[in-house]
Amino acid sequence: MRRFQIEYESENSFARELSKLKQWTKRQIAHEILFQIYAEIEDNKNKTLIDEVIKGIEKFFPEANYVGCSTNGNIVSGDLGKKTIAVICNIFEYPDTTVRVFQLPMNQENEAETVGRLKNYIDANRWVKSVELLTTINGMSMTEFCEVMAECRKDVCIYGGGAFPTNFARDDSFVFSKENDYSDSAVIFLLIGGDEFHVVTMHITGWQPLGREMLVTKTEDNRLCELDGKPAFDIYNKYLNIKNDASFFDNALEFPIFFERNGVDLLRAPTHSNPDGSITLSSAIKEGMRARLAYGDPEVILDSIKEDSMAVAVFMPEVIDVFSCAARRSYWGDRDVGGETMPFEAIASTAGFFTSGEFLRTDKYMNLHNVTLVVAAMREGDVDPDRDIYYIPSEESKSGKINMIKRFTTFINATTEEMEEAYKKLAEAAITDAMTGLLNRGEIQRRITDELENGEGRDYPISLIMMDLDDFKKVNDTYGHHEGDQVLKGLADVLRKNVGESRIPAEIGRWGGEEFMILLRETDEETARKLAERLRTDFYEVSFEKAGHVSMTLGVTQYKPGESADTVTMRVDKALYAAKANGKNRVAVG
Ligand code: GH3
Ligand code: MG
Ligand code: MG
Repeated sequence: MRRFQIEYESENSFARELSKLKQWTKRQIAHEILFQIYAEIEDNKNKTLIDEVIKGIEKFFPEANYVGCSTNGNIVSGDLGKKTIAVICNIFEYPDTTVRVFQLPMNQENEAETVGRLKNYIDANRWVKSVELLTTINGMSMTEFCEVMAECRKDVCIYGGGAFPTNFARDDSFVFSKENDYSDSAVIFLLIGGDEFHVVTMHITGWQPLGREMLVTKTEDNRLCELDGKPAFDIYNKYLNIKNDASFFDNALEFPIFFERNGVDLLRAPTHSNPDGSITLSSAIKEGMRARLAYGDPEVILDSIKEDSMAVAVFMPEVIDVFSCAARRSYWGDRDVGGETMPFEAIASTAGFFTSGEFLRTDKYMNLHNVTLVVAAMREGDVDPDRDIYYIPSEESKSGKINMIKRFTTFINATTEEMEEAYKKLAEAAITDAMTGLLNRGEIQRRITDELENGEGRDYPISLIMMDLDDFKKVNDTYGHHEGDQVLKGLADVLRKNVGESRIPAEIGRWGGEEFMILLRETDEETARKLAERLRTDFYEVSFEKAGHVSMTLGVTQYKPGESADTVTMRVDKALYAAKANGKNRVAVG
C-alpha cells in the first residue's frame, strides 16, 4: 500500500497534485486506487468545494473509488488538517487486493435491515477482511446497527467513525461516495480484503477511571438522569465542583463517564446539563451499568498513546486510519491535538477525521465509543523480517518526577478501594450471625418475606425447615456455655454441608438462640422432609468433645400460594413444637 495526502487549496493546485499522482501510477504498480475525502466545511449545505474535488478525481482517475464525509476536523499526515478538505489517496499494489464500496440509505426505521444486507454480503464474500464505516449518526442511537454488525463473520475487522458537522450544535452531517450522492442519512461500507491484505484495530482513550463505582439508575435516550438514585448532575457538582453553566461542557469533558461493557472500556462525554438535574451524554448508556468518573490528564493520555501505539508499530503497517472523537479536539485545543496522532504518523502514513462517535468491533461485540481514538493499521504483503520496528523513544518526564495528578489519582483510587472493601465487610456483617456465619434473624426473615411475597409468576414450590436443639439448656448447664457454643457452630457446619450438597437453592439463618431456619426454593414438602431427616441424623452422628451426641427436633412445611410469610413461619413453628411434644429428636410436617 502507498498513501499520498493532499490538502485541497485550489482547483489548479489540486489538478497539479493529481497529475503528479497520475504520472506516479503510470510508473508504479497501482492495482486499486481509493480516495478518502474528509470535509470540514463551515456550511454543510454548500458542497461546491467537494464537487470540485470529485470532478478532479473523476477526470484524472475515472476508475478510482472514493468515499467521504463531513467532519469536525480532518487528520492529515497525523496532524489536524489546516484546510477545509483533505484528500487521502490510497494505492493498493497487490493484484489480489479488492476494494468495494457500498453506500446504503439508513435511518432509525431501516437500520437493522440495512446492515443486515451488508452482513449477508460480508458472510458470502470470504475475501473481505476489513469493513471501514463512515456513517451519519444525526441523532440515531445506533444500537441495532451495532447489534447486527457484531454478528458479522468473526475474522473481519469492523471499525470507523460517525460523520460530523463543524459545529457541535448542528445536526447536518453527511456522507458521500462514488456509489451514491451526498446523503444525511446513509452509511458507507468500505470493504477491503484479499490474501495479501492485513489489518489490525485498537481503541485508545488514555482517560483513567477515578473514584467509586456508581449504579446507573435512570436514563432516557442519551440523557443520564440518575446515578445511585440521585440526579446525575449532583455527582459533577459534589465531587468536582462543576457548575451548571455555560462552561459545563469544557469542564465535564475532563471527567467523562467511564464504564465497562463485555470487558471493553467505554467513555461517554457529558455534553450539557439540563434543568431537571440530568446530563446529556454524547451517546447512550444503559440502566443497570456500573459507571465511574474518568479523568483526562494530558501527560497520562500521551503516555498511554505512546505505549499503545507500540502494538501498532509491531504490526508494521503501511497506512493507518484514525477516527478520533471531536471531544478530544475540544479537550486538547487545535494547537495541541496533533500530539496524540503524530506518534502514529511516525509509524506509518496516518489520516482520518474527528468524529461524532467511533466504532470498533472487539471480539463478539461492536461498540459505539466516545472520547476515544479508534485506530486501524493496514498493510499489504508479509512483514519484512529485516525491517526495524520503529520504537518511540521514551522521554524522561520534564521534572523527573511522576506527575502530581497521577499520584492523586492513585491516592483517590486506593482510598476508594479501601472504603469499598470496608463497606462490603460492614454490609456483610450487618446480615450475618457472627458466631455461626449463617444469616442473622433479620436477614433470613427478610429473605423469606421477599421470596414469598414477591413471587408473582413463580412456578416452583417453596418449603421451610425450622429446628431447635433438644435439651440444650442442660448442655450449657452441665458442660458450660463454651461447649454450648461449640454445639451451635457444629450444627451450622452440618446445615451448610448438607444443604450445599443437596444443590437446592436455599438460605440458612439463625432464627434465635438455638433455633435455625432454612428457606428452600424449588423444593416441595416431601423433599424438604427428606432433607430434614438427613440433617437430623447427620447432626446426631457428630460427637462433641464434652457434650457427646446432641439431638434436635425439626418442623417442615410447604408454602401455599397466597399465604403471608407470617402464616407459613407460624405453621412450621407449630410443627416443630408438635414434634417436641411427641418426644423430640424427630421431624414433623405441618
Ligand atoms: P427443648 O428441648 O425443649 O428445646 O429444651 P431446651 O433446653 O433446648 O430449651 P430452652 O429454650 O429452655 O433453652 C434454650 C437454651 O439455649 C437457653 C440458652 O441458655 C441457650 N442458648 C441460647 N443462645 C445461646 C448461645 O448463643 N450460646 C449458648 N451456649 N447457649 C445458648
Ligand atoms: Mg431447645
Ligand atoms: Mg428454644
